[in-house]
Amino acid sequence: MKSAEIRQKFLDFFASKGHQVVNSSPLVPGNDPTIMFTVAGMVQFKDVFLGFDKRNYTRATTSQKCLRAGGKHNDLENVGYTARHHTFFEMLGNFSFGDYFKRDAIHYAWEFLTGPEWLAIPKEKLMVTIYASDDEAYEIWNQQIGIPTDKIIRIGDNKGAPYASDNFWAMGDTGPCGPCTEIFYDHGDHIWGGPPGSADEDGDRFVEIWNNVFMQFNRDAEGVMHPLPKPSVDTGMGLERLSALLQKVHTNYEIDLFVALLQAAAKETGVPYNQDTPSLKVIADHIRACSFLIADGVLPSNEGRGYVLRRIIRRAVRHGYKLGQKSAFFYKLVATLVAEMGHAYPELVQKQAQIEDLLKYEEELFAKTLENGMALLDTALAGGKTILDGATAFKLSDTYGFPIDLTADVCREKNVSVDMEGFEIALNTQRAQSKAAGQFKAVTGLEYDGSASVFHGYTEHSREAKVLALYKGN
Ligand code: ATP
Ligand code: MG
Ligand code: MG
Ligand code: MG
Repeated sequence: MKSAEIRQKFLDFFASKGHQVVNSSPLVPGNDPTIMFTVAGMVQFKDVFLGFDKRNYTRATTSQKCLRAGGKHNDLENVGYTARHHTFFEMLGNFSFGDYFKRDAIHYAWEFLTGPEWLAIPKEKLMVTIYASDDEAYEIWNQQIGIPTDKIIRIGDNKGAPYASDNFWAMGDTGPCGPCTEIFYDHGDHIWGGPPGSADEDGDRFVEIWNNVFMQFNRDAEGVMHPLPKPSVDTGMGLERLSALLQKVHTNYEIDLFVALLQAAAKETGVPYNQDTPSLKVIADHIRACSFLIADGVLPSNEGRGYVLRRIIRRAVRHGYKLGQKSAFFYKLVATLVAEMGHAYPELVQKQAQIEDLLKYEEELFAKTLENGMALLDTALAGGKTILDGATAFKLSDTYGFPIDLTADVCREKNVSVDMEGFEIALNTQRAQSKAAGQFKAVTGLEYDGSASVFHGYTEHSREAKVLALYKGN
């Protein structure tokens, strides 16, 4: 089953259960300074959960564009390393605003996954987790659905626990939150990894596919939990993870949405196509994130959201460089993405030219210093060093435009760690000096600082001038 079909089936299922089908909101949340990006389907409904906003429906369903590349939810460092993490992904969700609660949510989820007329996933491949003290969810899974006791795992809220699992979901440090129950799919014992809550749960054998959150509280800045006006439901299922199991492949990168992107990445970087090449996966992931961010109005810059975008672009470009591609290539993948996803997300089609121009421009900007920066890094690490000193990391950032996470990404591949404390010291020293000199220079180098002199020589009607006009928001 194609991803597009799976997405549609999900929406159809919940529409048949009285849910209003609502469009995805943009990746940049409107009017919400507490989070940088839309990290889950519930973000556009935050005020409905809190009782500040009313809709003319109490049940909704969406396929939501999400980005997890900053703040509390950040999967940037997982991309290329796990089978299941992206920066940009699509989250399928159903929502109840004070309408149904635990019982119906669990029954709906199970019917959609295992019902013969829906996805018909074999029941024995699934297992669930519940919040440690949630006896009600336990009873529903065990007594009503018939899940055997050994396939229901109780997990707490991970305060200092040694494992990654956490069955208390929160949008951010503040905002709606509550206990949850999650559904996992077992990809088989030929793959390394233990069940959720075990010491080797970070493996990729048991993949979490669907989280059903029982929204009950609003956490304030002091950490105090206030009950929501009405108990509600918020669920999220990664479309790519669901596609993987339905398409009978193990990793998200083998699904229909990714194959063409990986092939294009291989072609444009000039390496053989291979699904297991981490750099190709990173590039395929990052072209989605960057294109969707630009389509939603984010522009590369040196702070905030724009800096997250710039960092992702530079990471992708560096992975291309690692594969031996030294000229601009990343922007050429936009066409493939538009062919794959433009139908579901028309904003990609509308903004294709702008996305390509901005990416090409950013690539060329970074290309000016990437090679010399890599040479500096290689020299600094020569002789089998295991730690990169903070002064070099700072120089890479300040002079060569290497965001610190990019430097760390390179180092990690070589089993080298970065002296972050030393980096911070060098950064603060430079800040203090520039302040004293009455001029504050951003730390990342190469930025477009708005002065025409940086781009002296371009004619007004050149492509570059048009790109610059975009940066200025014209
Ligand atoms: P994981 O434990 O695998 O990192 P999560 O617990 O952080 O996932 P949730 O916050 O519960 O994820 O999000 C709901 C669902 O969204 C997940 O069950 C998964 O299917 C999907 N999802 C979460 N993060 C990602 C990601 N980075 N890439 C793709 N899908 C994701
Ligand atoms: Mg996660
Ligand atoms: Mg999880
Ligand atoms: Mg989860």
